[in-house]
Amino acid sequence: MNIDDRLAKVKYVSDEETHLKINQEKCNNCEMKVCTYICPANVYEWNKKENKLTVNYENCLECGACRIACSEKCLEWQYPKGICGVTYKFG
Ligand code: SF4
Ligand code: SF4
Repeated sequence: MNIDDRLAKVKYVSDEETHLKINQEKCNNCEMKVCTYICPANVYEWNKKENKLTVNYENCLECGACRIACSEKCLEWQYPKGICGVTYKFG
């Protein structure tokens, strides 16, 4: 089973607001933008046209990698509230 097949089994319940809060000013000045290539769910995208980072938090797998990798240490990362967020189904 490849990664796409595995991700197809994941279920999400979207929260109304993001659990991944960025500091747009720091993101604008961030050279590496490591979050845009380490996230397995492609949550972070650099919008060149608007010169800003977009965060598709609804797709977050809650792995925590971005919190560790953010070079500016400016990500406010929390688990989604209540029953919101990701549910993994094995098998
Ligand atoms: S790595 Fe951190 S500071 Fe850099 S773009 Fe991503 S969230 Fe922003
Ligand atoms: S916690 Fe993991 S899946 Fe969620 S945004 Fe960060 S790197 Fe991506």
